[in-house]
Amino acid sequence: MKSDLQERLSKLPKVDVLLATPRAEELLQAFSRAQVVDGVRAQLEALRKQMLQGDGHVYEFAEVPFFDVVEGDLRAKQQPSLRRVINATGIVLHTNLGRAPLAERAIEAVVEVARGYSNLEYDLAAGKRGSRHAHVERLLCELTGAEAAVVVNNNAAAVMLAVNTLAKDAEVVTSRGELIEIGGSFRIPDVIERSEAELVEVGTTNKTRIDDYANAITDRTRILLKVHQSNFKIVGFTSAAKREEMVALARERELLVVEDLGSGILIDPAAFGLPDETTVREAVGAGVDLVTFSGDKLLGGPQAGIVVGRSDLIAAMKKNPLMRALRPGKLDLAALEATLLLYLDEDRLRESLPVLAMLTASEEELKAKAQTLCDALGAVPGVRAELKQGESYAGGGSLPDEALPSWVAAVRSEHLSANELADALRAQSPPIVARIAAAALNLDVRTVSEEEIDEIARAFQRIHDLP
Ligand SMILES: *Cc1c(COP(=O)(O)O)cnc(C)c1O
Repeated sequence: MKSDLQERLSKLPKVDVLLATPRAEELLQAFSRAQVVDGVRAQLEALRKQMLQGDGHVYEFAEVPFFDVVEGDLRAKQQPSLRRVINATGIVLHTNLGRAPLAERAIEAVVEVARGYSNLEYDLAAGKRGSRHAHVERLLCELTGAEAAVVVNNNAAAVMLAVNTLAKDAEVVTSRGELIEIGGSFRIPDVIERSEAELVEVGTTNKTRIDDYANAITDRTRILLKVHQSNFKIVGFTSAAKREEMVALARERELLVVEDLGSGILIDPAAFGLPDETTVREAVGAGVDLVTFSGDKLLGGPQAGIVVGRSDLIAAMKKNPLMRALRPGKLDLAALEATLLLYLDEDRLRESLPVLAMLTASEEELKAKAQTLCDALGAVPGVRAELKQGESYAGGGSLPDEALPSWVAAVRSEHLSANELADALRAQSPPIVARIAAAALNLDVRTVSEEEIDEIARAFQRIHDLP
């Protein structure tokens, strides 16, 4: 038996022989010689292992679809890991799915800047070195009423840079009700520690009064930090110090107020029928010295951390050596500037900014779109799709407790459980991500475009065409 196995192993074709076959020739049209050689070697090795560890069956080389496996592996390796997905969860700013889809104008700006050179750090009027911070600063000031602004990699970096610049080796006072953790292990206490400042916690989880801040101030205190609670809400017997009270206290004791607004909304939410939120302009207007917020949450732009406020403080942040490590790239700056430019025309913002369009979509709009999806899916044999009311969310820690009434296609398959269906949809190209509710797969159309409805229908077709 053993010698038989040895014999068969020794009879496996050599790499050179395999490379001379017509199937190998075909593969060499699509892949480099080195790729094909590696692929053939890896597959031969896998086969050898299989024969040695054996399930008792002794494989003949001809029995296995050798080159199909090699080709499958080569193609799989060429598939990028980071891919577009269809978001049918209804969560608009889904952090795991890349948060805000960009506006058309922002995409164009990215492509334009990516393709060639740009004046990223070049002053065209003067013909000499310029600053990457110059491109969006004036626009941010106009949109928020602030004196100055600077952009970094993300909001976590913005908080870090502000605290490190203004309170290094000193104390930062924060309410215990605001010591939040945002998904992905952004914890305010950790960020303050890494910013080389000392956190002083005041108040309790549900109540913090202005006197709690006042009593905690020492001659080492520099910042009163206010943090948006973002992804949770404390309800019931609660109170928090007012922004205005914190500003007054800081003025009196010669301290700074820094506010991490989280999402940072630039428009009046009421004017767009959105739940109440402090706008960046309101925080600046209340006298907060520095306000930080994300570029890819409610603002609807690329990943970025934006800081607006007093010009002397922003100037100090720009000079911090950490700035070099936290600065934004040209593609993000291009997308951010193009997104901010859209805010100059609020009348058209709903059409130009996808995040706002999705958040403010009317129930009739959503119902009609969900009906279209149901009709498309209902035409696939073995699939039942039912129009149902659902709830979508802003996500990304924005508008935390507000469910937005939506419409979904509640889908069941004759052959697959809801879990199996969800798995199969995630394996499609593009992958489709949806939520399971009451043994059905709910596809929420708030985050699905008209074009994607066809793609979803084709994916269901492929899944149900399988033997
Ligand atoms: C989302 C959020 C952050 C983190 O922002 P990133 O841009 O993801 O770094 C920080 N603070 C608050 C209050 C947030 O809501």
